[in-house]
Amino acid sequence: MPFDFKGKHVTVAGLGVSGVPAAKVLHGLGARVTVVNDGDDERARAQAADLEALGVTVRLGDGATLPEGTELIVTAPGWKPDKPLFTAAHEAGVPVWGDVELAWRLRRPDAAPWLAVTGTNGKTTTVQMLASILKAAGLRTAAVGNIGVSLLDAVTGDEEYDVLAVELSSYQLHWAPSLRAHSATVLNLAPDHLDWHGSMEAYAADKGRIYEGNRVACVYNVADKATEDLVREADVEEGCRAVGFTLGSPAPSQLGVVDGILVDRAFVEDRQKNAQELAEVSDVNPPAPHNIANALAAAGLARAFGVSAAAVRDGLRAFTPDAHRIAHVADVAGVAYVDDSKATNTHAAEASLAAYESIVWVAGGLAKGATFDELVTGAAKRLRGAVLIGADRALIREALARHAPEVPVVDLDRTDTGAMLQAVQEAQRLARPGDTVLLAPACASMDMFTNYNKRGDAFAEAVRELGA
Ligand code: ADP
Repeated sequence: MPFDFKGKHVTVAGLGVSGVPAAKVLHGLGARVTVVNDGDDERARAQAADLEALGVTVRLGDGATLPEGTELIVTAPGWKPDKPLFTAAHEAGVPVWGDVELAWRLRRPDAAPWLAVTGTNGKTTTVQMLASILKAAGLRTAAVGNIGVSLLDAVTGDEEYDVLAVELSSYQLHWAPSLRAHSATVLNLAPDHLDWHGSMEAYAADKGRIYEGNRVACVYNVADKATEDLVREADVEEGCRAVGFTLGSPAPSQLGVVDGILVDRAFVEDRQKNAQELAEVSDVNPPAPHNIANALAAAGLARAFGVSAAAVRDGLRAFTPDAHRIAHVADVAGVAYVDDSKATNTHAAEASLAAYESIVWVAGGLAKGATFDELVTGAAKRLRGAVLIGADRALIREALARHAPEVPVVDLDRTDTGAMLQAVQEAQRLARPGDTVLLAPACASMDMFTNYNKRGDAFAEAVRELGA
């Protein structure tokens, strides 16, 4: 039953990327919309003026009080669940939906099914690989969610889709209680955003919601038991299968790798005996181990939707990763320079450090409460040296001193715009031909840069100066 918004008092929590379109759509459906927003800056005022012109009420500078008569809250996904607004809503019995829940409820009855992807790292890449595979199969699709087209646009717009490849964050899942995907995957689970979720258990539980009500397959990571546990705990439709992906040889009901070939032992006739070749490892770009895992997860979801093996191969071949994700910038004097600025947490950095043999590691920034002992211990034998930048670099330096004391470390005590150039020059000095200078900061960028894109751009620019 589609939800009837006519005359309903709906409070939209938060202006911004999800709030403004949500307010417009709800207003268009006849709801009486009030937007509440903590901030009251120039940008918020301009957005408020636009919405007020349509007849939407906007309250700036007060995101805490529940407006009188609210029957439903539609929140920006990033709003923390312990906010007073939500406590008040809970006490008043008012439901809270996020942007994904709203999109899910607004789908037309015959709407395209969702193939959903979450995980601590690799979401964007996997969703894009999946969309590329679905396109290669001739299906009308889009990568939606945190990337590209917004979910709300995809479900309310005029464009027709056969299936959607949906990226979902843990925040979005938290606020999406009735979402039911065709099939879904949790790529991996490592501590992240724990300040928001409150605990690792709560974070995992929110990620695990993606499996609730799956119809065909719950795709999990064989190497990450926590993802399999989430499948076991999920309440799925009768007949829905648990399908694992592994970098090793696949057991029945798994996808994996045999002699450089990605193979499917899940979606084949008689999986005890048979396997289907999907693609070669070299069809995956870049063929780093974690990215092969992403490709297997994407292939698992596509195969659950009935896509042919040839389309999996063609889709993987056609895929090019977004910028700043293990992007090869240049070779200078026999040394490769690789920009993985998107490695903003230790789990991501661990994956990229595992992809190279001998590395000069450029790292540092805002640690967001992370510790680096495990990361450094795992990477120690691959490190030719390390160049540390940013606010929390001492944490990495201390971990290196504890677990890899023989690795030379350059600690850069500057945060100005020239810092990255110096970092790259120092890295060049440490590197030997055949090495990789890898920007995999394991930290957020905002202490020195506007975002990880700018950090990666600064790295690439510095590398070009070396080569000039
Ligand atoms: P997300 O959308 O989850 O942030 P991305 O696809 O943008 O993920 O990749 C972010 C970073 O995470 C990459 O730059 C890479 O360092 C790392 N990464 C990608 N896939 C994986 C994976 N499967 N496991 C661990 N780290 C990964």
